[in-house]
Amino acid sequence: MNETANDDNKCLQISKKPFLGGYRHKVTGQIFHHAIIQTCPSPWKYNFALQFNRDTQTVELKDKSQQTPKDASTQVQARNIYLSTANDKVLDATNSYIYADDIKKENLKQIIILQKCIRSWLAFCELLRRKKKALLQILWDKEQLKNKRKEDADWLQDLEIRRLNPKTEDDFKLIFSDLQNWWDSETKSISEVRSGADCKAAMWLLINTEVTKIEKVNKKKDKFGQEQSIQRREKFLERASKSKMWQASNDTVQVHTSTTMRATYLHELYQTLSMNYVSIQDRVDALKNLKEVLKPYHSKLTDNMIQLTNREIDLHLRGIKNAHLKGLQNRIRNLFWQFAKKPVFNPEMQLLTKIKKDDTSSPYIMSCSACKCFYILPISSTDEVLGKSVIENYFTKCKKCLDIENESWIRKDLELYKRMLKLLISEEERQPTKSSIIYILQPSDIGYLTDKIWKHQSCISGSKNDLELELTRFCINKNWTPWNCLLVTRQEANVLSKILDTETKYDKKFKMGASQKHAEARRYFATIPRFLPYLAEDFDVF
Ligand SMILES: [Zn+2]
Repeated sequence: MNETANDDNKCLQISKKPFLGGYRHKVTGQIFHHAIIQTCPSPWKYNFALQFNRDTQTVELKDKSQQTPKDASTQVQARNIYLSTANDKVLDATNSYIYADDIKKENLKQIIILQKCIRSWLAFCELLRRKKKALLQILWDKEQLKNKRKEDADWLQDLEIRRLNPKTEDDFKLIFSDLQNWWDSETKSISEVRSGADCKAAMWLLINTEVTKIEKVNKKKDKFGQEQSIQRREKFLERASKSKMWQASNDTVQVHTSTTMRATYLHELYQTLSMNYVSIQDRVDALKNLKEVLKPYHSKLTDNMIQLTNREIDLHLRGIKNAHLKGLQNRIRNLFWQFAKKPVFNPEMQLLTKIKKDDTSSPYIMSCSACKCFYILPISSTDEVLGKSVIENYFTKCKKCLDIENESWIRKDLELYKRMLKLLISEEERQPTKSSIIYILQPSDIGYLTDKIWKHQSCISGSKNDLELELTRFCINKNWTPWNCLLVTRQEANVLSKILDTETKYDKKFKMGASQKHAEARRYFATIPRFLPYLAEDFDVF
C-alpha cells in the first residue's frame, strides 16, 4: 500500500509543470498553457549520488594480532641444563673496526676527487665560453675591418664621381687640389731631371698645360654657376607664386589671389624662356606672350626687353639657327628676371624681399683687406673673427677673396678632414660618455690639429696613410678634446681603446711628447671663442 502511494507522489511531482504563462478563454473559460507543457521536462542534470561524506576523512582502523607461531626465548646454562660451547667462537672487534677519523679522511678524499672533477668540468665550460667569445671577437673585428674598408672604397669612389661631375663648390675645390698635386709632382720630376734652359722650356710647357686645364675647369664652373643661378631664381619665383594658406580647424585653406596668379604666370614664362630644347614655334609663342606682358609698361627696362624680343622673333623668321642666338636668349632671360623680381611688376616679391630686422643683435660689418668692399659677417664666423686682434682683423678677407686665393695658389680641399671628423663623431657616439665639443668642430679645426700639431702622421708608427689616420682619446676615461687626443692609425686606435690603464699604457717619453702637443693645441684653440667654455671646464677639473 505504501509503495503505491509513493509512486503516485512521484507521478504528481513529475506531472507538475512550471507556470510559464498562458491565457484563459473569456467565453468558455478554457485555460491554455504555454506550449512548453507539450514537451517532456528536461532531465535532472545532477546525479543523485551523495556529494558530501565525512567518512572519507577518517582512517578506518583495524586490529590484527601479530603473535608469531613460536615465542622467542634464550637459554642460559643452569644447574639442570647443559649447553655445549664447542663450536663457539670469540670474535675480535679490532679487525673490522673502523675509526671515525678514518671515515672522515676517506670522505675528505672522495670529496676532493669530486671537487677536482667539478672544477675541471667548470674550467672546461669556461674554456669553451672564452673560446666562443674569442671567436666571436675575431669575427666581429673582421666584420668591422671589412666595413671600414668598404667605407674607404665608397669614399674614394664618391670623390672620383665628384671630380668627374662637380656639383658643388667643394667639388671644384677638390679639382683644384688635384691640380696642385699634379703641378707639384710635375715640377719635382722636371727639377730632378733637367736644368738650365731645358728646365725653363719644360716649365713653360707645363704652365701652358696648367692654363688649359684651368680653362676647362673654369668652363665647367661657369656652367655650374649659370645652372645654380637659374635654379635659385626659379625657386624664388616659385615661392612668390605659392597660394595663400591658412590652417582651418580640420583642413588647410588655400586661396589664390590676383597677385599670386600674376606671380604664377611670370614663373611659368620664366621657365619657358629658360628651356634649352624647345621648337622654334614654341619659342616665338613664348616671346609673343612676353611682349603682351610688357605692353602696358613704359620704362627703360621694358623698352629694352621689347626691342630684344622683336629682334629674336625677326631672327627666327629669317631662319637663324637656335645655337647662334644663345647670347641674345640669355640676355632676354636675365632682363626678364630683373623685371619679374621688381615688386612694381610682381607685387608678391614685396613680401619675399622684405629685409628682416633683428634688433637684438646688430650685424657686424667688416671691410675686406683684399677687395676693400664692406660685407656682413656670417653668423657662424662672427665669434671667431671678432675674437681676433685689431691688427688681425685689418687683414681679414671676405669669402669671395678667400675662395679666389684658395683657387689660385693654396688649392686645398678639406675632404680628408671632413671624413676624419665624421669618423671621430661616429666613434665618440659609441662611447658611454661624450663631450659636445665634437659637434662644434669644423673640418678646418681638424686640419690644423692634424697638419700643424700632429704633423700629419701617426704618433706611434709614423704612418702617413690618409685612409688609415684617425683621432682617438689619449686618456680613455676623459672626454675627447683637442687637448686629449692622439693621431694614430686605425689598428693602433683599436689596440689603444682596449687598454684602460693610462699609467702603464704609455712610457714617460711618449707622455711628455703628447703633453707638449696638447699644450700647443690648447694654446691654439684658446684663441677661438667657441672653444673657451670647454677650456674653462677642463681647468675646473684640474
Ligand atoms: Zn674681398
